[in-house]
Amino acid sequence: MIAENIAKIRQRMDKAAQRAGRDPKEIVLCAATKMNDAERVREAIACGVDCCGENRVQELVEKRAQNAYKGAPVHFIGHLQTNKVNKVVGFVDLIQSVDRLALLECIEKEAAKQGIVQNILFEINIGAEESKSGFTPEEAVELAEKMEQFPHVFLRGLMAIPPVSKKSGDNCRYFEKIHRISVDITAKKSHNSSMDILSMGMTDDFEDAIACGSTMIRVGTAIFGARNY
Ligand SMILES: *Cc1c(COP(=O)(O)O)cnc(C)c1O
Repeated sequence: MIAENIAKIRQRMDKAAQRAGRDPKEIVLCAATKMNDAERVREAIACGVDCCGENRVQELVEKRAQNAYKGAPVHFIGHLQTNKVNKVVGFVDLIQSVDRLALLECIEKEAAKQGIVQNILFEINIGAEESKSGFTPEEAVELAEKMEQFPHVFLRGLMAIPPVSKKSGDNCRYFEKIHRISVDITAKKSHNSSMDILSMGMTDDFEDAIACGSTMIRVGTAIFGARNY
């Protein structure tokens, strides 16, 4: 089931890339593994997902102890409390959900303590929704210019979760906007930053995201089926 699902997603990713005149190899499939146990995570990795993304620190810690992520990088993609930063920094390849200055400062401090450089993305609240966290586009551009103040952090790109959409195509304008912000940041050639990752697109809209320049899609439901909350 997981194997078939992933094969189908890969086909859809390839087609979406080709339609957009892009190389399918540019686009990474990140499995959003929340609420799926170590065994299912291992199966997804065996079936070729490129990386795994966890939302909750506790799940990350538990599954890592069970060796769930062997063979694939693991990312943190959920809301991160500052008092749990020490359980994430140095343990994940990428923190995708850096959504506020206080968190960035805390990650810098922890990474410095460990003597490492932590890869991160800025999460943008692209729909300006109250229910979501994230920087405004203006804040992100401004902060990207100040990354030399955070020498133990490397900004690799942007992540966004657009508003829940009613029909396909609705989110294209948000994806396009994220792409434009990344171009703005690149033009300013900030210190310890690159913009090679645009993490956008989920089960319901990843083809649109790929059309708009996504380099990483985060897919849960289409891989594992509906989650049982
Ligand atoms: C759960 C989750 C996803 C995947 O959502 P699906 O709609 O199930 O594909 C992607 N990104 C984040 C941050 C998530 O929490």
